[in-house]
Amino acid sequence: MPDFQNTLSFALQQDQNDALAHFKTQFLIPEKEGKPLLYFCGNSLGLQPVSARQALERELLVWQNHGVEGWFEGERPWLSYHSSCKEPLARMVGALASEVCPMNNLTVNLHLMLTSFYQPQGARNKILTVAGDFPSDQYALETHVRSRGLDPAQTILEVKPANGKNTLKTEEILSAIRSHKDSLTLVMMSGLHYYTGQLYDMQRIVQEAHMYNISVGFDLAHAIGNAPLRLHAWGVDFAVWCSYKYLNSGPGGVSGIFIHEKHHAENLSRLAGWWGYDESRRFEMAPGFVPMSGADGWQLSTPTILALAVHRASLAIFEEAGIENLRAKSERLTGFLEFILQEINLKYHNPIKILTPTETAARGCQLSLLVQKDGKMLFDYLVNQGIIGDWREPNCIRLAPVPLYNSFEDVYKVGQEIDRFISALNS
Ligand SMILES: *Cc1c(COP(=O)(O)O)cnc(C)c1O
Repeated sequence: MPDFQNTLSFALQQDQNDALAHFKTQFLIPEKEGKPLLYFCGNSLGLQPVSARQALERELLVWQNHGVEGWFEGERPWLSYHSSCKEPLARMVGALASEVCPMNNLTVNLHLMLTSFYQPQGARNKILTVAGDFPSDQYALETHVRSRGLDPAQTILEVKPANGKNTLKTEEILSAIRSHKDSLTLVMMSGLHYYTGQLYDMQRIVQEAHMYNISVGFDLAHAIGNAPLRLHAWGVDFAVWCSYKYLNSGPGGVSGIFIHEKHHAENLSRLAGWWGYDESRRFEMAPGFVPMSGADGWQLSTPTILALAVHRASLAIFEEAGIENLRAKSERLTGFLEFILQEINLKYHNPIKILTPTETAARGCQLSLLVQKDGKMLFDYLVNQGIIGDWREPNCIRLAPVPLYNSFEDVYKVGQEIDRFISALNS
């Protein structure tokens, strides 16, 4: 255990020594009765960067002053606007710029990737995933399987934690891959589980699957901007994510895809639209689809410039802070929350079970708490005290201390309120 102490002076001192502490001022913290909330919900909707409004207004002004000419005029013509997000995204996920593209929304992109990468061939038609993954991902897999004339119950294999366990050992996933190597064609799962907060060892999963020619795709909705990613080096075949969680790019903000370079020259089947057509000849409107090279060739539609403007502004903050620095702070910040919760557990006979793994390499910033008694009451109490986490039935509170805008003091205060509630229950 690090040198943590559950005191206000310790928390304040940590904040004083935190080189990233000032990034909090780059975000608009919602208030309740004139006091800033303690916001622990970046896993669901990241906070608004101060710079978002200006970024939006800039494009509204281009629209106002140039109308349709905005596609070609102004400081950053809309025609190639999305490309200004590619380098920052590539650094964020450990990829080449040509391997990433911001576009569409997450579930749409997942469908596009499954069209290209789910290629059942005879008996080799199965998809391996993790049980209890996000519902939208489950629906995407189910309907893809059905659309190929297959039965989801026979075709989708779910790896489940052993009896009584909440999370999976990497070895359990690897051994499931080995056991089904002759019938699997794809592993498609979250990189970080939305409910338990478990971060999977993506590198080892890819290594194992590739030994048997099984493709691997990850949904990084909860991993991007949160956990270290090396998609290119790990050899991940494809990935998708959204930008409104840890990437702070606004509700329903633009999603993104990763397609490994090794697939760029392949003639993968895909659903195409004019925006993925070779840019230099797009406006010839000729028949016969000629894709742009790389991930850009999967684009379908005219990009949502206003969403991209916010995304761009938000990515600039990550560039400034550095994803490695953020991760280092995140490990300590979440470690501090865990330390405080363990103290509460010692004091009151384990009222809270932490579902999220203890090893830092197996989690991001989120801790998922199974509250043994009166969980909803605790959650409502916290909301009343201006502490925003999120609630999942039947008795789970997820708290995500985000290194860009949460402080050690925030974490200390949430611990104090949880302690106060539980102490009152016990008295
Ligand atoms: C947040 C999240 C989604 C949401 O998908 P949208 O298409 O953006 O609504 C899907 N999958 C996972 C794993 C998520 O965490």
